[in-house]
Amino acid sequence: MGFATDCIHAGQEPDPSTGAVTTPIFQTSTYVQDGLGRHKGYEYARTHNPTRRALEKNLAALEGGTDAYCYASGLAATHAVLTMMQSGQRVVVSDNVYGGTHRLFTKILSRVGIEFAFLDSTDPKRLDSEAGRFDLLWIETPTNPLLKICDIRALAEIAHARHALLVVDNTFLSPFFQRPLALGADIVVHSTTKYLNGHSDSVGGVAIVRDPAHADWLRYVQNAVGAILSPFDSWLVLRGTKTLALRMPQHEANARRIAPWLRARPEAKKVYWPGFPDHPGHETHKAQSTGFGAMISVDLGEREAARRFLEALQLCSLGESLGGVETLVAHPATMTHAGYTPEERAALGIGDGLVRLSIGCEDAEDLLADLERALAAL
Ligand code: PLP
Repeated sequence: MGFATDCIHAGQEPDPSTGAVTTPIFQTSTYVQDGLGRHKGYEYARTHNPTRRALEKNLAALEGGTDAYCYASGLAATHAVLTMMQSGQRVVVSDNVYGGTHRLFTKILSRVGIEFAFLDSTDPKRLDSEAGRFDLLWIETPTNPLLKICDIRALAEIAHARHALLVVDNTFLSPFFQRPLALGADIVVHSTTKYLNGHSDSVGGVAIVRDPAHADWLRYVQNAVGAILSPFDSWLVLRGTKTLALRMPQHEANARRIAPWLRARPEAKKVYWPGFPDHPGHETHKAQSTGFGAMISVDLGEREAARRFLEALQLCSLGESLGGVETLVAHPATMTHAGYTPEERAALGIGDGLVRLSIGCEDAEDLLADLERALAAL
C-alpha cells in the first residue's frame, strides 16, 4: 500500500462488534476472563489495550518496522530504549539533541552506570575515529534546535562495525519525509506529541523496531515499567496519523516560503534550515530524506531581541513543543534546552538570541505578516 493509505488504514479494521469505522477507545482497566487462564488475549490494560495496539501497528507500518511500542511520552519511549543498556555499557550521543534527552541521559541514566559521550555526529569519519568503543549510538537528524544533519547510512555502518545499535529520533521529520530503518537504523523513536499527532493535544512516544528480539524487550518494559500511552491518547494519535500525508507537505510548503524570506531580513543574523543549498548537510539530507521539513531556527543576536520578537507575535504562539498545525515558536536557551548548562549551550552555538520556529499549516501570507510585525518590534 502507499504511504497515505497506510496512514489511514494500517493497523485498523472496522470494529467487529459494531462496524464502527474508527477504532474505538477501549477505556477499560481490565478484561473479564471465562475461567482460570481462559481469556481473549487481554488480561490487564497496562499489558494490552486494543486502541494502543492499533496505533502501534499503524506506526510500525509508517516507519517500515516490524513492530512498535507506545509510551506515555517521547522521553518515556527514550527511557524504554535505554533500558537495553546495562551498567558499564557506553552510549555515544549527538552533541546537539533535545534538552530533555540530554537531561535524561546525564542526570538520571548516568547514575545507574551507563556511560554517555556527547560527540559531533555530523562528520561520520571523525566520529568513527573519536568515539572508541560503544554499544549504542543515539542521533537526531535534523538536530534540535540547530538543524544539523547526520548521515544515517554512514553512522549505521559505524555502529554495526562495533556490534552497536543505531537509534534515530525521527521526531523532526516524521516518516513522511524520512524512514531511518530503511537506511540502516535499528530503532526509531518519536515524540508522538509532535507531527505524528499533529494537533497539540496529546503527549506520547513510540519506539519502532526491526528486530523481533528488540520488540520482545520493549513489550516487556512497557508492562514491567508501566509508562504506557493511555487509550485516549492512543486514539488521538491514530486520528492524527490519518492526515500526516496531508499535513506534512503543507508544513513544508510554508517553510519553503518563510526560510528564504527570513534569511533576507537584516534582523536575522543567521537562519538554520537544511533546505538552503549552502547548508553544510544539504546534500546528505537530500540523499536520505524526501523533504526538508518545517523546523527553522533564527539567530536574532541578543536575548532582548529574541524577547521582543517573541512577545510581538500575534498569530504564531510562543510555547514549548512543535509539529502542531499551528505555528509554534520557542526560545531554546530558556525552554527546550534549559537542561544544558550555559557553557554547554555556548559551545554548541545555542545563543540567547536563538529562536526556533515550528511552521504550521496556516496561510503563508498570514504567517509572513505576523513575522514581519514581530521583526519590526526589534
Ligand atoms: N525528541 C525530540 C526531538 C523532542 O523535540 C522532544 C520534545 O520536545 C522529545 C524527544 C521528547 O518528547 P516528549 O515531550 O513527548 O517527552
